[in-house]
Amino acid sequence: MSEARARLDALPNLYPHLFQGGPLPWGFEVGDGWSDLIATLCVRIDSILREAPGAQFEILQVKEKFGALRFYYEIDGVEESISEAVLEAVMLAGKASVHICERCGRPGDHGSKEGWLFTRCAVCQAGDP
Ligand SMILES: [Zn+2]
Repeated sequence: MSEARARLDALPNLYPHLFQGGPLPWGFEVGDGWSDLIATLCVRIDSILREAPGAQFEILQVKEKFGALRFYYEIDGVEESISEAVLEAVMLAGKASVHICERCGRPGDHGSKEGWLFTRCAVCQAGDP
């Protein structure tokens, strides 16, 4: 297992209150290159939820779709300002994901090949899909 993958798999243990339903049923369905992005997002959400001790929060699914990060979650028991702050953090991470190679984490471009959308750096794009 890569270091990046181990880091992802450790997140439910590091932030149990973000994974109130336990580890993700299908794991993190993204390439290793986005591990920093996702870890940073968890840190950000964690700090937002510190302002909302009664928050119920559960990350449901984290995956790649159309070459971008999709981060599905449920939030309850918080004021609107908190849920808006979380939504903004999630949307920013989604926007950032299309500039980060999903495979290796270097700066990448959103591209397509034969109808398949992805985000890759030039090195990874030159290699296997
Ligand atoms: Zn790459």
